[in-house]
Amino acid sequence: MPIDPSPRSVSVLIPLALPAPYDYEVPAGLIAEEGAYVIVPLGAQQMLGVVWGPGTGEVDAKRLKPVLEVLDAPPMPAALRRFVDWIAAYTLNPRGSVLRLALRAPGALEPQRMRTAYRLADARPARMTPARLRVVERASDGFARTARELAEEAGVSDGVVRGLIEAASLLPVDLPTEAPFPEPDIGAREKALSPEQSAAASVLRARVEAGRFATLLLDGVTGSGKTEVYFEAVAEALARGKQALILLPEIALTSQFLDRFEARFGCKPAEWHSELSQRERRRVWRGVAEGRARVVVGARSALFLPFSDLGLIVVDEEHEAAFKQEEGVIYHARDMAVVRASLGDFPIVLSSATPSLETVVNAQLGRYERVVLPERHGTAELPEIAAIDMREEPPERGRWLSPRLVSEIVEALGRGEQAMLFLNRRGYAPLTLCRTCGHRIECPQCSSWLVEHRFRRELVCHHCGYTAPVPKACPSCGAEEALVACGPGVERIAEEIAERFPEARIAVLSSDNLRGPQSHEEVFRAIEAREIDIIVGTQIVAKGHHFPWLTLVGVVDADLGLENGDLRAAERTFQLLQQVAGRAGRAERRGRVFLQTYMPEHGVMRALVSGDRDRFLDREAAARERLGHPPFGRLVGVVLSSENAAQAQKFAREMARAAPQAEGVSVLGPAPAPLAMLRGRTRLRFLVKSARNINVQAYMQAWLSALKVPGSVRIAVDVDPYSFL
Ligand code: ADP
Ligand code: ZN
Repeated sequence: MPIDPSPRSVSVLIPLALPAPYDYEVPAGLIAEEGAYVIVPLGAQQMLGVVWGPGTGEVDAKRLKPVLEVLDAPPMPAALRRFVDWIAAYTLNPRGSVLRLALRAPGALEPQRMRTAYRLADARPARMTPARLRVVERASDGFARTARELAEEAGVSDGVVRGLIEAASLLPVDLPTEAPFPEPDIGAREKALSPEQSAAASVLRARVEAGRFATLLLDGVTGSGKTEVYFEAVAEALARGKQALILLPEIALTSQFLDRFEARFGCKPAEWHSELSQRERRRVWRGVAEGRARVVVGARSALFLPFSDLGLIVVDEEHEAAFKQEEGVIYHARDMAVVRASLGDFPIVLSSATPSLETVVNAQLGRYERVVLPERHGTAELPEIAAIDMREEPPERGRWLSPRLVSEIVEALGRGEQAMLFLNRRGYAPLTLCRTCGHRIECPQCSSWLVEHRFRRELVCHHCGYTAPVPKACPSCGAEEALVACGPGVERIAEEIAERFPEARIAVLSSDNLRGPQSHEEVFRAIEAREIDIIVGTQIVAKGHHFPWLTLVGVVDADLGLENGDLRAAERTFQLLQQVAGRAGRAERRGRVFLQTYMPEHGVMRALVSGDRDRFLDREAAARERLGHPPFGRLVGVVLSSENAAQAQKFAREMARAAPQAEGVSVLGPAPAPLAMLRGRTRLRFLVKSARNINVQAYMQAWLSALKVPGSVRIAVDVDPYSFL
């Protein structure tokens, strides 16, 4: 067949906020297949892009700019490209902005740097010295080493090694600078599964074996062995030559988890999270693209890795709000993982002890297959949960722990066990108030109070990070010694504990005093080793940890999450407290949990005490259905913000007028956002509600594309919002 001599054109998507790919010419001699990473000119710049498909022909072929270079990397798989398109359309973002999420490994597209090592040649030097002989002996095992390593191991100077290189007795070889990925050993299981676990595992295995899209809900109480069970699905994917991805909420990505993986598969998995060095990112990205990295354990952004042959995704703690990316491209990683699995036509496992209402409803409707593990593994039993009515059993003045909880702690410590107090509030006190004039210290840039952090001796804004020293006098009336800390944060609870139990060894766990996974690990190890008696922590302690000696959990303020009355407040409070409760009594000793509450009659408290989760979820579902809330209806949040309050308000009114009329869609707002000011920007909200069968994206497109947004105004669109601040 004659070769087509005319220049071919391709469309190239560039990772900038661009809605569509641009056409480029492929010069003779270059091969730019679909998915290829290329360098193209854009204006005066050269940009990285990805070949998205054939040229669209929208630009005259004679005016096309050429592709400058095709990079040496496996092309981006079609499933990932379609995933980028899908997310862009669903979340109403430019495709280029979504593509950027898939290119977050600087340097991954450049050839790997090599280091020079040396191995022994057949030729011996004309002049052999004792020093040279030592080097030759060292190198005779056939392994390549750097000049430095050879000199050190043989105990000779660098000059000796150099002499042997010059004499061609040592030959240079290029070695990769990066560590290889170990091959997981699917036969390495140490733990035998219980019959229930085996049954659950075989359902999962069968779906992986079938190799088709299917969503499975692995619904098992805390401690039932969900991890062990889904590891079997991972093993099955590996046995079929596929890659597997385990998505975890970032803070659950602990070395405890990696150790468990290693116990099952004989090696560590590849990791992907925000604390990786650039070098590690490059290594993992490249390893995934080339199929060398077989299993990745990662935070939500791992969804955008260029897996060459992905065959399974597991989303652990699927109910976690941390899977929602709230900035930039706003997406829910759990939902997008399901989309990814459907595009790649392979199964996905959603695992949780407290699955989200969305997922439970999908299971009830038969869209997801439910696999249940009803009991804790081995002899461990679920903890007993009781409410303490704070109206009946209040703490002493200026204290936060009720007498009953305190005496339970005394008893637990007396038995040599550990206690944990949970309060989902960082810092010492959420509000600083002037006793003289009533002034409340607020953030100058946000409509929120500054939170006192006593360890750091600062007032901190939890929204923008603004900090200020704690003032001596009231900034408003000048009264001295008049400022009081109102309400407790974890630091204040730790203070009370230290006063009440001066002998006890206390650990405070919150994101403020634990930076990076390393320091977490130290504390967790200390807890496991029983070097700690009482743990005081925020939600950091709620997730996935296994502390065999922890038998008592006290929730300091069980009502806290119910205060912000958004549509998931009850569901989330239930999930969080159930997870916290699940930390207690995970080994032989039974756990006890106390919830301090002013609303013991509230549905959430009742469900926790009775353990009747399904009834609680049924009622929640019924209420949401009545209101047309998700998952029975659709929501889109729109936040517009500006440094200029008047302009924000004016534009919000314009936007409201421009909202198209459509059957089954209602637009609420504009209203000042609950967080009415953030980082100096005034914020207003709309909430779009629609029935489930409505294409709400099309509605939003029609609305947004007709707007002329002033330069000072920013619009953030949040499809399926979880935050209503
Ligand atoms: P979940 O994820 O459901 O909370 P895990 O998988 O963390 O439960 O298991 C809870 C604890 O029980 C872990 O320490 C785990 O090692 C242990 N475990 C679970 N299944 C087994 C088993 N079959 N054999 C031995 N230990 C197990
Ligand atoms: Zn602030």
